[in-house]
Amino acid sequence: MKDEWDVIVVGGGHAGIEAALAAIRLGCSVVLISAKIHRIGEMSCNPAIGGIAKGTIVREIDALDGSMARSADATTLHFRMLNRRKGPAVWGPRVQSDAAEYARAQQVYIGSNGIEIIEDEVTGLDGATEKVTGVRCRNNGSIKGKTVVLAAGTFLRGRLFRGDELWKGGRIGDISADSLEKNLVERMFHVERFKTGTPARIVRSTVNVDELEVQQSEETYFTFSFGEYQPNDKQEVCYITYTDENTMNIAKDYLHLSPLMAGRIEGTGPRYCPSYEDKVVKFPDRQRQKIYVEPMGYGSRNFYLNGLSTSLPREAQRKMVRSLPGFGRAEISDYGYAVEYSYFHFSEIDDTLRLRKTENVFVAGQICGTSGYEEAAGMGLIAGANAGRIAKSLEPLKLSRMNSYIGVMIDDIVSKGADEPYRMFSSRAENRLHLRQDNADRRLFNSGDRFGILSEEKRELLTGNLKEAEIVWNVLESETVDGIRLSKWCRRPGITVEDITYQAHTLVDRDEKVLLSVLLDEKYSGYIERNLRRHESSKNMEKISLRGISSYMEIDEICWEAREVLEREKPETLARAERIPGIRPTDLHGLLIHLGRQRSTWNNSKEE
Ligand SMILES: Cc1cc2nc3c(=O)[nH]c(=O)nc-3n(C[C@H](O)[C@H](O)[C@H](O)COP(=O)(O)OP(=O)(O)OC[C@H]3O[C@@H](n4cnc5c(N)ncnc54)[C@H](O)[C@@H]3O)c2cc1C
Repeated sequence: MKDEWDVIVVGGGHAGIEAALAAIRLGCSVVLISAKIHRIGEMSCNPAIGGIAKGTIVREIDALDGSMARSADATTLHFRMLNRRKGPAVWGPRVQSDAAEYARAQQVYIGSNGIEIIEDEVTGLDGATEKVTGVRCRNNGSIKGKTVVLAAGTFLRGRLFRGDELWKGGRIGDISADSLEKNLVERMFHVERFKTGTPARIVRSTVNVDELEVQQSEETYFTFSFGEYQPNDKQEVCYITYTDENTMNIAKDYLHLSPLMAGRIEGTGPRYCPSYEDKVVKFPDRQRQKIYVEPMGYGSRNFYLNGLSTSLPREAQRKMVRSLPGFGRAEISDYGYAVEYSYFHFSEIDDTLRLRKTENVFVAGQICGTSGYEEAAGMGLIAGANAGRIAKSLEPLKLSRMNSYIGVMIDDIVSKGADEPYRMFSSRAENRLHLRQDNADRRLFNSGDRFGILSEEKRELLTGNLKEAEIVWNVLESETVDGIRLSKWCRRPGITVEDITYQAHTLVDRDEKVLLSVLLDEKYSGYIERNLRRHESSKNMEKISLRGISSYMEIDEICWEAREVLEREKPETLARAERIPGIRPTDLHGLLIHLGRQRSTWNNSKEE
């Protein structure tokens, strides 16, 4: 054991893994402390990676040399490109992974990169809050580190609920990090409570799949990883079933026993992914709801019921499950439950993911108020890189909203927080036509390079992709059709990669994926340029400080609703104010007038 580590990572979930790997790629000494080694990399909920916007985050993680994409590729059982009906800018690759194999693949990455792994519970930070000296563990005592990354997921004073059952845990069968949370609260960190939940797992052999709709995997060859990759040859089909009036009535009969409805859970849950009982209350007319039946692994014993998350009592769950077509004789292997946990209020976190009260503690994943494996992994990568950079006395770095979903997510989280677990949607990104899954390698090469987190192998691969794109682009710029440059011609609606290669024969042998990606750049170039111009003007707004405003309630130039929101959020700059939902251009204009008036009052009083 070292006397002092460069980076200590607490938690072996999706955030902790990427944090540890990023720090080790930077050349730091890294120790990862996790409560249970065999559960490192575990998917607490459904066995799927990616989706709309989330899939793009996975591509970004790969462009920054993280491991999530490669582990998902190696364990893919089922693939679908979501949103195909819409433009390629918002396509969302999603795979169904073998949950156990995915965790094993992540464990292999962590275990084979020189990261020291310790199985223990971290019970608190060590040393003064302003500059901690490391962490305290239940069994191993103090472990010293120059920097710490906290990635404790849903474990901070985690409480699990099902009907009237209540027990401690970050997820089923795991510890609850009560001591760590207590230590953080004693250090005056502002934490709040969120909740999330998971559905029952069903014994596969007890389901009559002949009664279910089959959802085949798409034939398309796809890998999240930008490298040459041999995808997993094991395949599974998924299924679809539906709830009906009967399912809804059962849930209604047991609503009074729901910990949520009885008020025993106080934390807010995700609106976009509510529990079934939540849906019954909020959408009583929607009796028929789609439930995706997803295998937990290749030939695995269990099915996951995507869409039927619940913390109703076991009896209610049994009846609800058996009301679904194909599930008349189904047996439940693990019952659904809800988890309530603490997370850091956004005001505690800066845009490098450092806790503001400290010089050397970083945070990532669910404890920042996000939800989802991809969000956690993306943040983990940045937190680990910045912890490593601080340990090496280098400047911490940021990703921009303009170049990545990870940048959008971090900016959203630290500037306005979330009133429910934060999940990435493409609508959150103003520059989404540029933030596509196909070009993440080209978008993020410079950032990965600046951070210093690209391995030689990855750098070589990405450089190759960049060169390939440049060759394509040069051809589009130099060749013409009917006197029009190809780069301009290809922006016309309906022009495809095949049309381009028909016109420019030198492109026939080029990489088709790169060709499509460059074509999309051209097609969307008008929007992208407009967005960049808007961003430039908002960067100017970033320079306008609102710190001098003590109360918004008295500012007549802005509307009442805006006054209330601004009073609550207290944005630091005009740019931050602009991003708050409900703030309109007229309010920003009003703020500018107010600031101008304030300035001239000050100047006058100085002269007097
Ligand atoms: C019941 C449940 C349902 C969920 N449902 C959904 C959903 O529907 N949709 C969705 O997107 N996401 C869902 N999630 C969230 C998803 O699992 C997380 O977003 C994701 O796992 C977060 O990754 P993470 O790395 O932040 O934390 P986690 O994956 O939770 O990992 C945390 C790690 O930290 C370790 N740890 C914690 N405290 C300590 C300590 N004091 N000492 C040592 N080690 C510690 C744990 O052992 C674990 O390895 C659900 C989670 C749970 C538990």
